[in-house]
Amino acid sequence: MFFASGYVLGALWMSKETNTPLPQQEIYDLCKIIVQSGRNYSKRHQLPCPLMYAYYQVEYLGAAHGLCSILQTLISVPGYLEASPTDAADIKRSIDYLLSLQGDEGNFPAATDEIGYQPELVHWCHGAGGTIYLMAKAYLVFKEDKYLQSCVRMADLIWNKGLLKKGPGLCHGVAGNGYTFLLMFRLTGDVKYLYRALEFYNFMNSSDFKNAARTPDNPHSLYEGLAGTACYVADLTHPNTAHFPFSDVFTL
Ligand SMILES: [Zn+2]
Repeated sequence: MFFASGYVLGALWMSKETNTPLPQQEIYDLCKIIVQSGRNYSKRHQLPCPLMYAYYQVEYLGAAHGLCSILQTLISVPGYLEASPTDAADIKRSIDYLLSLQGDEGNFPAATDEIGYQPELVHWCHGAGGTIYLMAKAYLVFKEDKYLQSCVRMADLIWNKGLLKKGPGLCHGVAGNGYTFLLMFRLTGDVKYLYRALEFYNFMNSSDFKNAARTPDNPHSLYEGLAGTACYVADLTHPNTAHFPFSDVFTL
């Protein structure tokens, strides 16, 4: 279902970029399959979350191959929630279930087998750095303050613990976490977040970072390498339209 969800997100993005209408019925049909699959899995394993998915037998919750990106995709499809109220109810209950897992520090577990432990990873792929996009989208769609408050807590956690040594990239690097501040700047208009975004950029230029940071497995790629960092640096120059690549919650 991660692939189906990625396909839907890709279709939304292509539709926006090429200014062509979305093949609505096909996309709605795919969404229904995604929801039913999550429902079946959850029932089969008697889970408290109405929708759940597994990737290599692990019920991941984060953005890279976990529940939160699937839910973000489903609430991003124009008109789908209104057209499918039963699915919409299970999608929202799943988001609220995920919200209930936010820990004292503001982070989220990477997978269900970490529930009850202090989550360690503050990345885009696992934890607050990626979950913040789902909660931001939920805030824009449902207009409930609890989602915004969740984002504020995640952004504060990332400010305190988000300077990573795993390189400058998006997936589990400094630029990926820096993007959360650009998101929060657009969401709230608070310049504090712009300051934080710039400080993460400055950190990537520091000798501390250059000496200690690991070289990613794919040093030039979009998600791990310099291509993602380049997107971040470019976005710092126009923060009012800045967005994590393929994850613009304001327009998708
Ligand atoms: Zn990662």
